[in-house]
Amino acid sequence: MSFSDLIPVVNKLQDIVTTTQVSDLDLPILAVVGSQSCGKSSVLENIVGKDFLPRGTGIVTRRPLILQLVNLKPDEFAACSTSQSNSESDEYYNDDEDDELKEINLEEHLKKLTMAKNGGSKGTSRVSADVEYGEFLHLPGKRFYNFKEIRHEIEIETNRVAGSNKGINRIPINLKIYSTKVLDLTLVDLPGITKVPIGDQPGDIEKQTRNLILEYISRPNCIILAVSPANVDLVNSESLKLARQVDPTGKRTIGILTKLDLMDEGTNALDILKGNVYPLKMGFVGIINRSQYDISINKSLTDSLGDEEAFFRNHQAYRTIANKCGTRYLSIKLNQILMSHIREKLPDIKAKLNTLIGQTEQELIQYGGSPLDVIEDKSVLILNLMTKFAQNFINSIEGTNINEISTKELCGGARLYHIYNEVFGNDLSLINPTHNLTLRDIRTAIRNSTGSRPSLFVPELAFDLLVKPQIKLLEEPSKKCVELVYEELMKIVHNICSNGIEINRYPKLQMKLIEVVSDLLRERLGPTIKYVESLIEINKSYINTNHPNFVGAATAMRTVLEEKRKAGEISKKPVVESDDSDEIEDINEIDEDLPSSKVNESVHIQEKDPSDSYLNYFFGKDPITHQQYLTTQAQLNPAPFKFPNSHETLPLQFNNDSSSTSSTATIINNNNESFEIDEGINELNEKEQLECELIRRLIISYFGIIREIIKDQVPKSIMCLLVNFIRDNIQNQLVIKLYNEKLFDNLLVEDENIQIEREKCYNLLKTYKDAAKIINEVV
Ligand code: GDP
Ligand code: MG
Repeated sequence: MSFSDLIPVVNKLQDIVTTTQVSDLDLPILAVVGSQSCGKSSVLENIVGKDFLPRGTGIVTRRPLILQLVNLKPDEFAACSTSQSNSESDEYYNDDEDDELKEINLEEHLKKLTMAKNGGSKGTSRVSADVEYGEFLHLPGKRFYNFKEIRHEIEIETNRVAGSNKGINRIPINLKIYSTKVLDLTLVDLPGITKVPIGDQPGDIEKQTRNLILEYISRPNCIILAVSPANVDLVNSESLKLARQVDPTGKRTIGILTKLDLMDEGTNALDILKGNVYPLKMGFVGIINRSQYDISINKSLTDSLGDEEAFFRNHQAYRTIANKCGTRYLSIKLNQILMSHIREKLPDIKAKLNTLIGQTEQELIQYGGSPLDVIEDKSVLILNLMTKFAQNFINSIEGTNINEISTKELCGGARLYHIYNEVFGNDLSLINPTHNLTLRDIRTAIRNSTGSRPSLFVPELAFDLLVKPQIKLLEEPSKKCVELVYEELMKIVHNICSNGIEINRYPKLQMKLIEVVSDLLRERLGPTIKYVESLIEINKSYINTNHPNFVGAATAMRTVLEEKRKAGEISKKPVVESDDSDEIEDINEIDEDLPSSKVNESVHIQEKDPSDSYLNYFFGKDPITHQQYLTTQAQLNPAPFKFPNSHETLPLQFNNDSSSTSSTATIINNNNESFEIDEGINELNEKEQLECELIRRLIISYFGIIREIIKDQVPKSIMCLLVNFIRDNIQNQLVIKLYNEKLFDNLLVEDENIQIEREKCYNLLKTYKDAAKIINEVV
């Protein structure tokens, strides 16, 4: 692998730096530094082997010129020449007086190229190898085959930005020279250092110029070409002073001594060139550029280079070191220096490039991969995308979609779990089993179910009647649960799409996928809700008082009576020998709003334990079924109202409405389960009061059982009829609805923006990869 193959990589990378703003690729450059008119531009011209830079007396170079020399192999050139298509013939400069300066224009170039291709007769088959061109960054795509035009363009571009009156400007001009004749180099031509401001130059022109130069040469990867004219004492060399400032050990400074031909008779710079005067690790190279006179007579570069070689070969002093003098030697030396410099930088560039490749590849995948990937089989692609879509949906539901696990909100399966257990569970537990049930309702129910004759099992019959509408209370939250799950599934469908960049490529397909699944979901919503409704209806249709967890009338009654008795005992202990009026006073102490007359009416309590007699009254004898369960239930659902002989009484709240003749009271227990009672409570006799309380407890107990059943059954139903159904049918449904060859073309119409982005991304990746490939081949 030859060294010069390294530079195309660097040039490419420099392109990347310019086009992608990747500024951290610190590429090696060569910069010429020196005082005004010391011959910097001339040196560069010699290296390039072309007349193209504005040169001359006074300040000529007024903007930095970044010059990339690109070595073209003849076949390479032929390949890239066929596609170019601009016209410079309008501004064609023809200089017939000097063959060497006669530049080839496009027309000629194409003509010769065609002739060469057709096996042209006039010995022009080597023409392509002789042609070279330049291209400016500010004029992309425009090839300058005429180097005088390049010079002209530099002048125009300099004036455009820096003005026409000797001002300088730090914005660089970027120029690439493609040629089979140049060595691969990147060079920077810089304005010379001037002491005295002229024209539009500001008072601090020297400082400004120095700063501008330092901007370039202070970069650690800049090789400094410190130009000094041999006819001025090296001690006064501006270039060496500047170079030492940024490269004190002189390890990246190469000394260039110009104007050796202008030295006084009898003097020479041999000591300097041998490195005996000024220590520079890279040494000094002697150069002879064309003089102002040479320029004025259009002396050709070839002649100049020939004369230069002859000068050193024949010179008394330089003869011995002639092979280490002159422009040709300088070019080779520079190239070598640059190579080793790049080699040092290579690992770093490589690493950065790899990072860029990784990032770009990732990006490209997001845009759907290579644009060169022709869709071979649309049906396969559609099937794949469908399957992916369906699988993503299923994964989301089942919570296996790691990519989509959000930290901010619950999603997919976790969200369903949340709906069932938190939302639905909470909704159910908030239902008051005796909601909307008044004492009057209960009494009416009791009376209706009794008919004209008194029945032993009145409470149970009335309970059956009363509990059914309460079960209906479970319907709303159950339906809401279905709706929430439906909404969640809809959300999942849309989420899959917004996250699936691959599918975003095909907006129409995406729309259709969403549509099909949405339709399917909508189709299932009705049956699922119907089923949940019927679950409630089923539970309403038969009240199973034999349910093992049901309190049962007997046990409930026993508990009620036991509590009543205990309450009586407790109240009796502290108030021994109390009479009715004492108790009334106690009540009033607790709730002063309670009208004593009313309390008096309603609080008549028998002192004797009524438990046995009531049990006997209702059930004939004491039943011992579920005694323990009953006790637990009673603790969970304590009596909302207690008999007023207890001092712990009074969750009773009477709302006395002055404008109304009847006041109502709400009885609240710990579970926030309340009766709305009207004043009728006062009219209830003791038996009726007990009956009401008994029924209330039966309702609470039974409702609790059904609530648990619904809490269990509704999620299962939703899973079966909606979630799992969709899961199991999504793929199938997508195939049925969309897998139709007539639809494929339409479904696979690609999103325009993604297409553009992908192509951009693809090209960028290709640039990176090409560069990386070359680097890898080198290392
Ligand atoms: P720059 O200002 O440093 O870019 O210098 P230029 O390349 O523009 O050259 C300034 C002037 O010095 C031009 O007229 C050149 O012809 C002349 N010149 C540069 N190098 C040499 C040299 O080696 N020998 C002679 N005789 N003249 C030179
Ligand atoms: Mg110059």
